[in-house]
Parts: sequence; C-alpha cells; structure tokens
Amino acid sequence: MIVELLGREAGLTFECMHIVPGRGDCSRIHPHFHYIDVSVDGEFDDKRRIVHLYNLKAIIARLCSTFEDKILLADYPESIQKITDKQTHYNIEINNKYYLIPKSDIFRVNIPSLNIEDLAIYCIDQLIIDIKNDDAFASLNYIEVVLSEGHGQRGKIKKNLR
Ligand SMILES: [Zn+2]
Repeated sequence: MIVELLGREAGLTFECMHIVPGRGDCSRIHPHFHYIDVSVDGEFDDKRRIVHLYNLKAIIARLCSTFEDKILLADYPESIQKITDKQTHYNIEINNKYYLIPKSDIFRVNIPSLNIEDLAIYCIDQLIIDIKNDDAFASLNYIEVVLSEGHGQRGKIKKNLR
C-alpha cells in the first residue's frame, strides 16, 4: 500500500535563491518556489496504518525549513565557483561576478550542483536519515520524493528503505 503527501496542499514548501553557473537568466541570483511530494510504501501496522502522517509531515517540514529563505551554494569546482571565507561573510565569484553575502543568509548544501536532480537526491537522503532513526517508520519498504522547482519542472527519485 502506498501513502502520499502532496507538498503544495500539505504546506511542505520552501522558497530559496540560487545562482547557477553559465549564461542567461539562471546566471543571475534568482528565486525558486519548491514543494516536496513524498510517497511511501509499507506494511499495515496493528492500527491499520502504513505510516503516521503527522510524523512523516514533521520530518519533511524540518527539511523544508533548512532551505527557507536561504541562498543555496553547492560544491561546484573552484574553476566554476570560488568561495572565500571572510568570517561573517562569503566572497563568491561566479559567472565573472562577485557577491559578498552574510553567512547567515546562506545554506551550503553538500551536493555537486544545484540542479533539480542533485537537490532531489539531497532531499531523499536527508529524509532517509530521519526515517531510519525512528522506529515509527520501521514498516516502510521504499520512499519516493518528487521535488518541484516551479515552472512545471521537478526531479523524482525512489529509494529502498530495507
Ligand atoms: Zn534556478
């Protein structure tokens, strides 16, 4: 049996900004409105439930809050994006432009790019860490995450939990 949480309807959303290497519109600092849809497959428990939706929503909401209103930085190679640590700020050189941004406004995501593919992988891996740390999710077989970045664009990934 599969149970789904639809991010937009369930309030599992976040807004953040990023700069993507390259030319054109995406090379400027710009926002995205994201939402996360999550499906889980599992076995019924003695209360005829696959998953306690309150618990599942809570871990997704926590993940969303880590991104909320932040500027994302990924681990692009130095030849593409050079980040200099200035104690309270980061000096960022990308697309032949220079940004000086307070660290408090930045979320350095430990992924190789800010493409929707890598962001979706990051999201599912973070959720799996929480799921595996909580016996309430012990009956689940797999999880699927769909991360939308607006404009009808989304990344979808499924992973086994066993
Ligand atoms: Zn973008």
